[in-house]
Amino acid sequence: MEYIKTSCPLCGSDSQYCLVDHDNSKYFRCKICTDFQISSRGEGLTQEASDEWKKKASKDARESDYNQVLIIDMVEISKLTHGEDPYPIMYFCHRTKIRQCL
Ligand SMILES: [Zn+2]
Repeated sequence: MEYIKTSCPLCGSDSQYCLVDHDNSKYFRCKICTDFQISSRGEGLTQEASDEWKKKASKDARESDYNQVLIIDMVEISKLTHGEDPYPIMYFCHRTKIRQCL
């Protein structure tokens, strides 16, 4: 798998990612945040998220157990109330259950 260098969407540090899940998600490796995965829709929403939100995501990713990988995705549309804009959500997934780059 090929890694592409970029700045981290959570903390802005040097990081790298590879495309996973049929190019719908990026598996990131960041010096600060360690490993996390973000969907393309989640990434767009993260750009608009507050600094506090990004700091929390960075901290959660960093402090998680090695086998628990932070996933950032867009909220399910069915969970939005009428007129509410989509927002990013985060949750943990066991490392063996996600598609990742080796
Ligand atoms: Zn980072």
